[in-house]
Amino acid sequence: MTTNEFTLLFRRRFSMAHRLIAGDSVKCAVPHGHNETVSVKLEAVDPAPLDGAANMVESFARAKATWHRWIDGHVDHALQLSHRDPLIGYFREHEPEKLPMLLITPGDPTTEALAACMMAKANALFATETSPLRCVEVEIEETPTNTVIFRGVPEHHLDAGYLGLPGAPWWLRGDMSINDL
Ligand SMILES: [Zn+2]
Repeated sequence: MTTNEFTLLFRRRFSMAHRLIAGDSVKCAVPHGHNETVSVKLEAVDPAPLDGAANMVESFARAKATWHRWIDGHVDHALQLSHRDPLIGYFREHEPEKLPMLLITPGDPTTEALAACMMAKANALFATETSPLRCVEVEIEETPTNTVIFRGVPEHHLDAGYLGLPGAPWWLRGDMSINDL
């Protein structure tokens, strides 16, 4: 068997705040929050038949552990900002101890940008722990009526050179980071 016949789906709730400064919506330009739900769909990198014994693609506990540690400990209650947002300067100057709680996206932190970042991050975390899984789809429910589904290639949408960094940006690193500040 070479095709993936099983998909694992894990769902997690988190609270966040953001603001969007590049568009014309005054409402979205004021920091505000949402309670969001992220669902990740995972598939085996090397699909194989069930073995007739343990019969699983991967232990659910192991598959979820690092991903949920990142969501719960770092994404939950983060303030999401564009890398161009002058609020970053405020935190640098006045509350530098809170910089680790800023999730920075290249351009505005829309749900689309977040979904692409989350898929890249999930795969960076899986690669770091040599998991047999990879993330093939991210769904973020921003509000009960607005959901974004991403099943593409994150690199097509994220400018990895957004800060002129010499190394990989946070979404490509298999660590707990949410920014490159
Ligand atoms: Zn919003």
